Amino acid sequence: MSTQAPPALTERADALDAADELAPIVDRFTVPDEVIYLDGNSLGALPRHVPAVVADIVERQWGHDLIRSWNDNDWWHAPIRIGDRIGGLVGAAPGQLVAGDSTSANLFKVLAAGCRMRPDRPTIVTDPAGFSTDTYIAQSVARLLDRRLVYAAPHDVLDNGDPAAALSDAAVVAFSHVDYRTGQLWNLPEVTAAAHRAGALACWDLSHSAGAVPVGLDAYDVDLAVGCSYKYLNGGPGAPAYLYVAARHQATFDQPLSGWHGHATPFAMTVDYEPADGIARGRCGTPPMLSMLTLEAALDAFDGVRIEQVRAKSLSLTGLFIDAVDQLVGGDVQVVTPRVPGRRGSQVALRHGQAFQAVTALIARGVIGDFRQPDLMRFGFAAPYLTHRQVVEAAAQLADVLTSGVYDDIAPSATALVT
Ligand SMILES: *Cc1c(COP(=O)(O)O)cnc(C)c1O
Repeated sequence: MSTQAPPALTERADALDAADELAPIVDRFTVPDEVIYLDGNSLGALPRHVPAVVADIVERQWGHDLIRSWNDNDWWHAPIRIGDRIGGLVGAAPGQLVAGDSTSANLFKVLAAGCRMRPDRPTIVTDPAGFSTDTYIAQSVARLLDRRLVYAAPHDVLDNGDPAAALSDAAVVAFSHVDYRTGQLWNLPEVTAAAHRAGALACWDLSHSAGAVPVGLDAYDVDLAVGCSYKYLNGGPGAPAYLYVAARHQATFDQPLSGWHGHATPFAMTVDYEPADGIARGRCGTPPMLSMLTLEAALDAFDGVRIEQVRAKSLSLTGLFIDAVDQLVGGDVQVVTPRVPGRRGSQVALRHGQAFQAVTALIARGVIGDFRQPDLMRFGFAAPYLTHRQVVEAAAQLADVLTSGVYDDIAPSATALVT
């Protein structure tokens, strides 16, 4: 990578890095030297200590301790233990999150349970621009439980005291905290309060906020939440997701995937299902223990780190990137992500007619972002392992790719399976 950012930008970046409280933890992660990794919003980087822990999980816990590990290494309680640790990052007191299954499966559980908690309310409200799997799952829950799906964006359900029309007969209002395409951060406190005024439950998908943005689940009286752990939580490919049920709802939380791990007495193997007390009833079947324990180890990378520090650095990184793009790329791209810091998650999305080709050319240079249909380049900024210097270098590479036209020979996105 020979392209250099202009000195004024690199000096500003270096000054920000010198003052960065989280600079000491960059080294907790391993990213190849030749890579600037701006895709931590899709798959978080590998914490340096994790491979050794994985070796121990495989060789000692599985290889030597065998079935005894369920007790001796306390595999059984790992989902609850890990849920509590994730809870610490999203503002939930212990006993309200449980790790396991995928985000899709957990959304199915909480949406169906939410409808069962509001039997007289005939609709589910969700954002048509939400992540595809979220709308697909909502469609199926609506069909299964004979509800109507109503599409509205989070800002459309905000009101000035009177419940918005879309919410008037909603059982559950389900939104993503951060829009995965645009990087917009929605106003969780206000939307949650609007849902409550209308008599609905508020359910949030935290996939793009956990580990990057303070959430405040308890502080804002959120009812239900789900999220994945392989993005900003760095749990590894396909790592278990999690679900949150506020303590006040747990006794009536009747989720549809009534597997034996959520049973009150799993090893009694009774005929009838009786849910466990507390958040354990959010569990289903045997978790993928290797992934589960890998996630647990990966969370150590947040030790001693406050999420507010992560947020401050993330805003500093995304703000610097937007400035650098303005200066170096100018009108060639449109910054789709809100420029107002309080409305921005931890990514920056840029619109460009040949976004796929530009991202492909950048990846070939070691600047890894991704592409979302039809014309967005997405760049995720994981504060724990990025430097401001990398941010301005990435912007300089982007400017070079766009002005040099090196991407002209690259085929369009239709040929790639995963973008
Ligand atoms: C990443 C993401 C998912 C992923 O769902 P999986 O079931 O883990 O594949 C779901 N919803 C949102 C909003 C996401 O960002």
